[in-house]
Amino acid sequence: MADSQKVAVTKNGKTYYLNANNTAVFGHYLFADGKTYHKYLDCYKLWSEEYQTNFTGWQAISKKEIKEMHLRYCKFCQNREDDETQSTHYEFLPTDAAEKKPVPKWLKIFLFVALALLLIVVIGVHFLPDPSEDETTTSTPTAANQVVAVSDNSEQKPVVDFHLYDQARDIPVIDTETSERKGTYSLIKTDSALVTDELLVDWYENHVSLPGRGFSLIVFVDKDEKEGIYALSGMIAKNVHLESDPDDPYLYDVDFDDAVYYSVIDGNLVEQPFTITD
Ligand SMILES: [Zn+2]
Repeated sequence: MADSQKVAVTKNGKTYYLNANNTAVFGHYLFADGKTYHKYLDCYKLWSEEYQTNFTGWQAISKKEIKEMHLRYCKFCQNREDDETQSTHYEFLPTDAAEKKPVPKWLKIFLFVALALLLIVVIGVHFLPDPSEDETTTSTPTAANQVVAVSDNSEQKPVVDFHLYDQARDIPVIDTETSERKGTYSLIKTDSALVTDELLVDWYENHVSLPGRGFSLIVFVDKDEKEGIYALSGMIAKNVHLESDPDDPYLYDVDFDDAVYYSVIDGNLVEQPFTITD
């Protein structure tokens, strides 16, 4: 393949070029050739040279197709998943484990940061040099001068920093047939009006693209949870349609037919026309 960092994934006749990294395609498994199915986009990098040479890309397949084709699960992907299960970043379980949740770390950090910022502002009010002192005039500082200095300061540094990922939860992905845990994904349920491009970039850079993270989903509660944003390392898809499973409130079917794709480049969302080859 021309670009070793991108891998072709064909779904419903359309081909998408995704970053070949340690992630899975939401709601799908991957198939290339032979009698096995896979999960991770970069699995082919572990194959023998001969198999790698013949590899031209993935076909995204559903669980139903896996059954129909009598495919076995790839050993490499299985091993990687076993490692993933041993990691400690699973915090949320929809059942009884959720009740045992301790005070989340982010809340402690948030309170600490808020307190620190408050201190800085209070210190700023009392100890910042009055700008009028730089001037040659010897007028004594007035209350009005001080108010101006404080409001300038607070404009540059907002006291409360808001991040979309403050509300993110790690949701286990459960195999509906075997009841086995197949990793996790990150879920945020929020109002679409809160999701600005600036916050999306912040979410992507400090949450979605972190090593070891699978895919992330933002569900718009003001759109009946039928619209949202899907992302994994390398891409953000806006305007995806969602269908929640009646049996599992954390399971969504994601439809990318009207999706618009973006990458984050130098802190900006840049639209990416993923090549469609059909
Ligand atoms: Zn594999």
